[in-house]
Amino acid sequence: MKLTSGSIVIINLLALQYLPVLCLSQDFDFFYFVLQWPGSYCDTKQRCCYPKTGKPSADFGIHGLWPNYNDGGYPSNCDPNSRFDKSEISSLIGSLEKEWPTLSCPSNDGVKFWTHEWLKHGTCSESELGQREYFEAALQLKQKANLLQALTSAGIKPNDEFYELEEIEDAIRQAVGFTPGIECNVDSSRNSQLYQVYFCVDNSGSDFIKCPLLPRAKCGSRIQFPKF
Ligand code: 5GP
Ligand code: 5GP
Repeated sequence: MKLTSGSIVIINLLALQYLPVLCLSQDFDFFYFVLQWPGSYCDTKQRCCYPKTGKPSADFGIHGLWPNYNDGGYPSNCDPNSRFDKSEISSLIGSLEKEWPTLSCPSNDGVKFWTHEWLKHGTCSESELGQREYFEAALQLKQKANLLQALTSAGIKPNDEFYELEEIEDAIRQAVGFTPGIECNVDSSRNSQLYQVYFCVDNSGSDFIKCPLLPRAKCGSRIQFPKF
């Protein structure tokens, strides 16, 4: 079929009409910044492996920075052409190893975890943050939240003791200014444990905000904060 210049103009106009839809469909309303307690990860899976760099410190580690919609839905794997480029974040590797350690088995250096998080979640915030900025934003948020300090200074320590959900939420609200989402896991003795903490962050990735929506807690009334 031969295309006339008129039909090419029409095709272009049609393509332009759908372009904003394609772009908007990859947009998002806010981020969940999710930290995990390594002791609980290891208890849930009943198995975890320390990264090649050794046992992570007894601190919360980053799980991810996840673009989200206000209605609870979220985009994922938004850019099939993207790849995790280690050279772009080479100067951040040391910090990522410390603050974003992987606990999955078999033991590895973390690149697999960071690649997964970038491809699944990071590619959906490319309108706001490039790859380096994305990982930098997560590292800065971790520092800003200073979560373990917020809990320990309120007497909530990783010592296998049990705490009330409200106590934990209050301590974090005092420190960060907003109520976090708390996710629990159940260990082999059926204890509800403090597993992940969700903070909401504006879509530039820099400031904590009030959560438009909190993930369901699924926590028992008494929550164990296990040793690690
Ligand atoms: P799970 O089913 O274990 O809660 O979550 C599995 C994975 O789905 C998470 O690690 C994360 O990648 C994604 N996910 C779960 N819940 C949410 C959510 O509320 N928002 C976003 N953006 N991703 C989520
Ligand atoms: P999400 O649940 O965010 O979709 O992805 C978690 C993926 O990263 C899973 O495939 C999991 O095996 C892998 N992974 C590697 N290291 C870790 C870790 O330390 N914590 C969690 N939650 N997942 C990890």
